[in-house]
Formats: sequence, C-alpha cells, structure tokens
Amino acid sequence: MYLLTTCASCAAPLGSKRAKQCSRCKTRYCSATCQRDHWARGHQSLCKKIKKAGDAETYHANEKYKVAVAVAVAACAEDTKGQTCYICKEAIQRVNEEGLVSGHCACRGPAGFVHVGCLVHQSVTLIHDEAMDKSVAATKNAAYRKLGPKWRRLWFNCPRCKGEYCGDVQIALGWSCWCSHRLNQRDEMVNQEAYSIFARISVRALALRLFAKKHFEEARALYLALLNSVPPGTLTMDTGSTEASLEREETIGDMDKLAICHGKLGRADDELTARKLVHHATRSLFGRRATYATAIKLASVLLDQHYVHDALELLSDICPDVAGDLGFDHHLTVELFHLLCRARWMHHFYGREGYRDDLREAVTELLGLLGLNLTWEVSQPIRNTLRLALTHQLDWSLEDLNLDPSELEAIISAGLFRG
Ligand SMILES: [Zn+2]
Ligand SMILES: [Zn+2]
Ligand SMILES: [Zn+2]
Ligand SMILES: [Zn+2]
Repeated sequence: MYLLTTCASCAAPLGSKRAKQCSRCKTRYCSATCQRDHWARGHQSLCKKIKKAGDAETYHANEKYKVAVAVAVAACAEDTKGQTCYICKEAIQRVNEEGLVSGHCACRGPAGFVHVGCLVHQSVTLIHDEAMDKSVAATKNAAYRKLGPKWRRLWFNCPRCKGEYCGDVQIALGWSCWCSHRLNQRDEMVNQEAYSIFARISVRALALRLFAKKHFEEARALYLALLNSVPPGTLTMDTGSTEASLEREETIGDMDKLAICHGKLGRADDELTARKLVHHATRSLFGRRATYATAIKLASVLLDQHYVHDALELLSDICPDVAGDLGFDHHLTVELFHLLCRARWMHHFYGREGYRDDLREAVTELLGLLGLNLTWEVSQPIRNTLRLALTHQLDWSLEDLNLDPSELEAIISAGLFRG
C-alpha cells in the first residue's frame, strides 16, 4: 500500500496501476518525462537522502513524523521546562535531538514527561519481543489479525497506565508506526500478505487520529489509499468468517469517514458518491434494517445538493419500514420522517401533479412529529421545516392548506403562526 498516491512531479493521481519509479529511491511518477523533470528540478540532490531513509514512502512518513513531533513539543514547551524524560532521563533526546512532550496519557508528574522518539523506541522493542517473532510471522494471516489489536495498543497506548496517548503525540506515533511498518516490509523473511494486514491496521490508526484532529485533507488521502487496497470481495461476499466481517465493517467505517472528509473539504460530488457507496454496501451486506442511519446521511446530502427527487424516492421507500421496525418515537424514525417532509416540501416547487396534496401531507406529518415528546434539540429543526412549509410555497397560500382548528392551535403553540 502507498500513501504517496500522486506523481511526485506533477501531482497527477497514480491510481492503483504500476507507476514509473526512481530505481534508487522508489519515488513514483506518472511518466518518464515527469521523472526527468523532477530529477533536473532537484530530485538529483535528494535521491540519496531518501534512499538512506528506506524509500520515498518511508522518507515521507519520517518527514511527517518530524513535523508532528515539532508541533507536539511546541505545544508542551511551557509544561516541560526544566523536566527530563522518564525513559532516557535526558531533557533533549540524544539521537533525534527532540524536546519533551507531556500529558500524553494518564501518567502524571515527572512520569508524564517523555520524548516521542523514546516512546517509538519503546514500542519497536516491545513489538520486536512480542509480536514480530519470526515464528509468528511465518504462521497464517489469522494469527496476524489477532495480533492487530495488540499492535495498535503497543503503538498508541502507554504500557504503564494503559491509557491512550492523546493529541499531537498520537499523530507523530501514527506516522512512525507506518514508517516502522514500511521498514519491516523490506524484511524478506516475513510473510508479505500478513504485512499487508498490518499495513491496513497502521494506516487506519493514523487516518483516525488525523481525522480526529481535523486534518481532513491528509485523512482523506489515507482513507482513499485504504479503500484502494481493500482485498477483493470484501464488500460483496459474505464468507461467514469473523475476520472478514470485521474487515467489512471497518471498510464501511472508512468509507463513512471518507464521505465526511469530502464534505468538510467542499468536494460535493465525491461526498455524494461516497454516501451512496456506504448506503448500498450496508444494504447489500447487512440488509435493509441496517440502513436507517446510512439513509439519513445520504438523504441529507441529496437534499443539501438539491437532488430532491432522488431523496424523495429513497425516503418514501424506507419510511414505511422504519416506523414498523423501531416505533414512531425512535430517533431514527423521527429523523427519517422529518427528512421525508422536507423532501416533499422542496419537491413541491417542481410543481408535479398532486404537489399540493404532498405539501398538505408534509404539514400534517410535521405536526404529528411535533406532537411527540421530543427534546428541544430534536424538535427545533422540525419546527424550522414546518415554518418553511407554511411560509414558502409555490403558488398558493396558508389558507389553501385548509388547516383544521386543532392544527392551527398546534401551529400557534409551536410559535409558528404568522398573522
Ligand atoms: Zn507527473
Ligand atoms: Zn530517487
Ligand atoms: Zn527520552
Ligand atoms: Zn501512562
């Protein structure tokens, strides 16, 4: 798996096909022309340095690691003044000349100051002792999957307090985890397929941390790399094995995060595509009942992007089921019916036959929802939609709705009546 998915010279996406690469440092290019250009523009002087770090992928991860450490150290500068590392007992780490970080886990006081480099060294040593034993490496992939959670813990949790490291430290550890994985991969003694499982675990762990810190551009690239390397059949076949089903769920989780990244980065088309993928994959793997939450997210994106007809179709199809399955006052039922009403209101502007009945029905339904015992946070958006349905209409007026007295009263009590 590669996290560097674009041409180093022109940034064109390289896809999953074999790309041209620098024979020494494995920097990847879209074409021989780009490779020549890049060489002339400075790669010539960097190539040996990259090779020394391992290869282009490792060098990149290492650079990212250094930046993340610098950020973490700067953020802790005040707290760590005059302190020393609980591992190496120094203030400045000798090998990498790193400063200290603090508050990385639940350890407090002098036990809480440490170098990220010392944590990395500690993880690598523990992993070498416990998990990277060559005899384990030679066994089946299943053994590796079981080692997955342990690998994650060894990288991201403090061995003393068992707490997870937090903040910028996590991101630095995420990059060094990927870096160390890449270096292990060059070891020919080790089962390559098993390593691809660890690659996914490492990248997913890093992506999740970047996502949590709102580094959406970087997280997006990582989720794309993960999804490009999904083992064939993961999302289409149910083999019945627990490992495969775990991988499936995690892959759908990756797609969900990717959709959020797209949305945060303003990539509307990509967001919609990803939302559809999540919804359809969930449906084909786990059945209709599993899709209420994914339908809400998909319908919201469809409505935001004014694909009103598609949203209406999706919601009309799913709403009758959700009420029967979960009951009328379940939050998913309420949310789906609210979106259905919103879709009907938006759709009536297109003036298709029977649109007045649709709008009338939406108003009745929204009043019904407001009649449920909902919290203020839940009912507020519903009130907003009702307000829109009552005040923004195509070619008729509030009077045309022929509201009956009880409905009028409900509208007045919801504070929505306009004179
Ligand atoms: Zn190029
Ligand atoms: Zn090179
Ligand atoms: Zn240290
Ligand atoms: Zn701790």
